Amino acid sequence: MEYVTLGTTDITVNKNGFGALPIQRISKEEAARLLKRAYEKGIRFFDTARFYTDSEEKIGYALKDVREHIYIASKTMCTKTEDFWNHLHTSLKELQTDYLDLYQFHNPAVCPKPNDGSGLYEAMLEAKEKGLIHHIGITNHRLAVAKEAIESGLYETLQFPFSYLSTNKELELVKLCKEHNMGFIAMKALSGGLITNSAAAYAYLAQFDNVLPIWGVQKESELEEFLSYIDTPPILDEELTAIIVKDQSELGGDFCRGCGYCLPCPKGIDIPTCARMSLLIRRAPLSVYLNDEHQGKMAKIKECIHCDHCKKHCPYGLNTPSLLIANLTDYETFIN
Ligand code: SF4
Ligand code: SF4
Repeated sequence: MEYVTLGTTDITVNKNGFGALPIQRISKEEAARLLKRAYEKGIRFFDTARFYTDSEEKIGYALKDVREHIYIASKTMCTKTEDFWNHLHTSLKELQTDYLDLYQFHNPAVCPKPNDGSGLYEAMLEAKEKGLIHHIGITNHRLAVAKEAIESGLYETLQFPFSYLSTNKELELVKLCKEHNMGFIAMKALSGGLITNSAAAYAYLAQFDNVLPIWGVQKESELEEFLSYIDTPPILDEELTAIIVKDQSELGGDFCRGCGYCLPCPKGIDIPTCARMSLLIRRAPLSVYLNDEHQGKMAKIKECIHCDHCKKHCPYGLNTPSLLIANLTDYETFIN
């Protein structure tokens, strides 16, 4: 079993965190089965967010009896202190607990700091003094905000997208976190579904001793894969290295990560799916992406009014409207 300690926190867990975003999409009982199975087989870190609709409620329902044996991280997207307290109290109520092990600012556009006029960081400190939260973290998709947060010395953890498809810039963040003794929580370790070999994803991230991957789990089969890695962690051998090298050459560079930060689109275009369609149809079972539902989604691209909302909000600097059109052209050619 491989363990990681998140920076200066007391959070030491095996390298399989449970990402609780996808459990929003399944029923309460199905989610409870997954969460309980995860706990029984050794997962101890559960990451959720106030923004993930009923994810917190499902965790509270499933794991309240083992609360003191697990670590729960949640997040707030608040921009005002009033919302901070509302979010925190709601999270505690939904999770059926009186403390969070880690509370994170959820992808803020700027890094909250003391005396910045927002009062948000002061609210975090007050919540910590009151024992409502044990540690303070931040999540982000923007390199500049992440770097500022690390260098500020104000945060104990950073959560950022990181996988073997990441660039040297993300690698620098991981290194910087280590230098600042900060925990690094890796989200999107399967790069939003583009990485299909979870053993390769695991083995790559296992090289970094300060990194805790959280795996977004929605199905039992996905969970079982990660559970098997607790006792038998995949090793970065020649075979897995070859898979990584092949994927990096095929997928490296400017591609849509499916993060959804460009939403909402005023025309209702499902950008995180449509902007990756060329990759998805070549990497996933075809029947999924060629069905009527997806053909309808792709056809909607033609309704784009080029307002550039998506382009302005893409943390990876993608020219999203152009990318959508390129994906539509390719998709239509593919179908024909
Ligand atoms: S540019 Fe097109 S795809 Fe992007 S948000 Fe506007 S309408 Fe939607
Ligand atoms: S276009 Fe950019 S913001 Fe939108 S889903 Fe893709 S990577 Fe994320």
